[in-house]
Amino acid sequence: MITKELINPQSIVVVGGSNDIRKPGGKALKNLIDQEYKGKLYVVNPKADEVQGIKSYRDVNLLPQVDLAILAIPAQFCPDTMEILAKEKGTKGFIVFSAGFSEESEEGARLEKRMVEIANQYNASLIGPNCIGVINTNYAGVFTTPIPKLDPKGIDMISGSGATAVFIMESALPKGLTFNSIWSVGNSAQIGVEEVLEYMDENFDPERDSKVKLLYIEKIEKPQKFLKHTQSLIRKGCRIAAVKAGSSEAGSRAASSHTGALASSDEAVSALFRKAGIVRCQGREELATVAAIFQQKELQGDSVAVVTHAGGPGVMLTDALSNGGMKVPPIDQHIQKDLLEHLFPGSSAANPIDFLATGTAEQLDYILQTCEERCDNIDAIAVIFGTPGLFRVFDAYDVIHKHIEKNKKPIYPIMPSTSEAAEEIKHFQAYGHQSFHDEVLFGQALVKVWKTPKPSTLDVPLPEDINTEKIRQIISTADNGYLSPENVSNLLDAAGIPRVPEAVVDTQDQAVARANEFGYPLVMKVVGPVHKSDVGGVVLGVQSEEEVKDHFKRLMQIPDAKGVLLQPMAKGVELFVGAKQEPKFGHIVLSGLGGIFIEVLKDVQSGLAPISQDEAMQMINSLKGVKMLEGARGTKPVDKTRFADIISRVSLLCQLAPEIVEMDINPLLADGDKILAVDARIRIEK
Ligand code: ADP
Ligand code: MG
Repeated sequence: MITKELINPQSIVVVGGSNDIRKPGGKALKNLIDQEYKGKLYVVNPKADEVQGIKSYRDVNLLPQVDLAILAIPAQFCPDTMEILAKEKGTKGFIVFSAGFSEESEEGARLEKRMVEIANQYNASLIGPNCIGVINTNYAGVFTTPIPKLDPKGIDMISGSGATAVFIMESALPKGLTFNSIWSVGNSAQIGVEEVLEYMDENFDPERDSKVKLLYIEKIEKPQKFLKHTQSLIRKGCRIAAVKAGSSEAGSRAASSHTGALASSDEAVSALFRKAGIVRCQGREELATVAAIFQQKELQGDSVAVVTHAGGPGVMLTDALSNGGMKVPPIDQHIQKDLLEHLFPGSSAANPIDFLATGTAEQLDYILQTCEERCDNIDAIAVIFGTPGLFRVFDAYDVIHKHIEKNKKPIYPIMPSTSEAAEEIKHFQAYGHQSFHDEVLFGQALVKVWKTPKPSTLDVPLPEDINTEKIRQIISTADNGYLSPENVSNLLDAAGIPRVPEAVVDTQDQAVARANEFGYPLVMKVVGPVHKSDVGGVVLGVQSEEEVKDHFKRLMQIPDAKGVLLQPMAKGVELFVGAKQEPKFGHIVLSGLGGIFIEVLKDVQSGLAPISQDEAMQMINSLKGVKMLEGARGTKPVDKTRFADIISRVSLLCQLAPEIVEMDINPLLADGDKILAVDARIRIEK
C-alpha cells in the first residue's frame, strides 16, 4: 500500500545518517538538506548527537514520532528497527536502501519477508529494499545524484533498477526534461512497479498530475494488474514508455543475477505493451527521446515538415521518417513559390525545407508560420537548427519558442550543436521546452510513438455461434497431452473456425470407402506422430483407389501410426495462427503467413488474448508479408477480415479453454474469402 506519509511526509528520519557523504546515509541526508526539505528532519546514529547540522539520536527508541524512515543500515538490523518505528513512532513510510536481502541469500529473503509483514501489519509503505529511494516534489529521498529539476508536469519514472534510474536521468536532463517523481522499487518486496501504477491510476487527477510515465522493468510479476492500470492511465490521457530488459537469453541471465528477476517470455511482453498502448523502447536514450516527444503536443497525423538550415541532417531525418512509414510530403506548389520569395537564393521549399546555413531567424519565423497556418497536408514540424560557429542562435531559438507556445501542430526542436550552442540550448530549455540532439534518434523514436497502437479492449464479446458448452465438454473429457484429431476438429467447429472435412480410418477398406466419398485428389496423413511431414506422413494429390491402398499400407508402417486421416485437397496461400499459454500473462496468439514467412523470415505478429477483430486486423496489417495477402504477383487477394475473425476466434477459444497450453493451426489455406484449416494440433494440461 502507498501511504500519504510516503508521498508527503511531515517528518523524516535517516537511520544510519552520517557526516560521510560518500556513504548512502550521509549522501541521502545531504540530498534532503540541499533540496530544502520543508518538514522536520532527524538522524539516528549511535555515535553522534548532530550530523550535518541535524539533530541525531543515538537510538531509534529515543526518536519523536516520525512519518517516514529512510534505512541505511546493514540488512540484519532493518526488521527490528522497522518494528520499533512502526509500533512506537507511528512511522507509515519506509525506504530501505540496504542490500543483502532476497537478491542475495535465503537468510536475506527471510529478513525481507519479515519487513513486509511488519509494514502490512502497521499499514505502512515499504519501498525497497535494495533501492536508491524515492524523489518527488516533496522530498529527495535518494542517496544518488543527479537530482533532476522537479516539476508537477515533469516525468513520473518507476524503475526496477536504481542505477538505471540514475542513468536514465543522465539521458533525460540534457534534453531539458524535468521530473515529477522517481520511484526506485528495488526488490519490490511490498511495492513493485504494478503497485505504483495502481496508485497513480486510482488517484489520477488530470489537472494536477503528470501525464508522462517512464518505466524500466526487469520482471513483470503481475501482468494482468500491470495491463489494467497502464491501459487505464493511457485512457485517462497519460503516455507511457517502457524498457523491459532481459529479453534475450543472455539478457535474462544478467537479469536473474541482478535482482533475482526472471525474464518472462519477451514476445508476451511486447504483446502486453501493445495491448496497453505502451511505447516499448530498447534503451535509455530512446526512452528519454520518447519522453521528450511525449512532452510536445500530441501528433494527429503522419505527415511531417522537415525544416532545416543544414541539408545533411534534413535528409537523414527524412530517411528515418520515411523508412519507418511516416511521410515527408511535398509542400503545395504555390506555397513553395511564396516561401522561396522569402528565402535566400538556392534555398529549397519542397520538403525538407532547407533555408541554407546563412538562413535567418526571420526566415525561420516565416517558414514556421507558413507550415502552421497554410500547409493543410502537414501535421507536425521538425526543425533542425544548430550553428556552424559563425554566429549565435539565440534569436532563432526564441522564434522556435514563440511558435511552440502558440502553434497547434507539434514542433520538434532538434538542436545538434550541443557544445557550440550550449548556452542557447540552455536559454531555450529555460522556457520549459525540451530539445533533441540527434535527428535520426528523434525520427526513429517518433515513428515508434506514432506506430504504437491505442489501448485495445480487454472485453471482446463472444460471437453467438461459439459453442461454449461444447468446448468445455470436449476439454473436460479429454486427457492431458495432444488432443485426438476428432477432438481437434470438434473444438475448431465449436469455436467457429472453418476447416476442411476429414475422416480418420484404420482399415484399408474404410480408407477406400471414405476416399470415394470425398472424391479425388485427396490428402492422406498419418495419425499419431506430431510432425507428420518430418516422418514422411503426408501425401498430397492422391488420385486413385490404387494409390489410396498403397499409401495406406505405407503410412500405417510409420512408427506410432494409429490411423490415417483423409482430407480433400485445398488450395491457396498458407496462413498460420498459433497460441501459447504464458504463465500469468494468459495466452499469446501468434499469426502470420505460413511456410518460409514464419520459418525463415520470422514474420509473425502477436497479441494477448482476448483479441478483438480490430486488433487482429492491426496484427495482419503489421506483417511484413501483408502485400502477399493483398494480391501481390497476380494472386487472388485474401479476405483479411475473415482471417482477422479466425485469429480473434482462436484467442476466444483459449479464453474459454485456458487448459490449452499450445495450439497450432498450420497451415490454413486461404483462397480469396475461403480460408480453411488443414492442419491443427492442440495440447492441453489440466
Ligand atoms: P505437418 O505440419 O504435421 O507436417 P500438415 O498437415 O500441415 O502436416 O501437412 C504438411 C503440408 O501439406 C501443409 O503445410 C500443406 O502445405 C500441405 N497440406 C496439408 N493438408 C493439405 C490439404 N488438405 N490440402 C492442400 N495441402 C495440404
Ligand atoms: Mg502443419
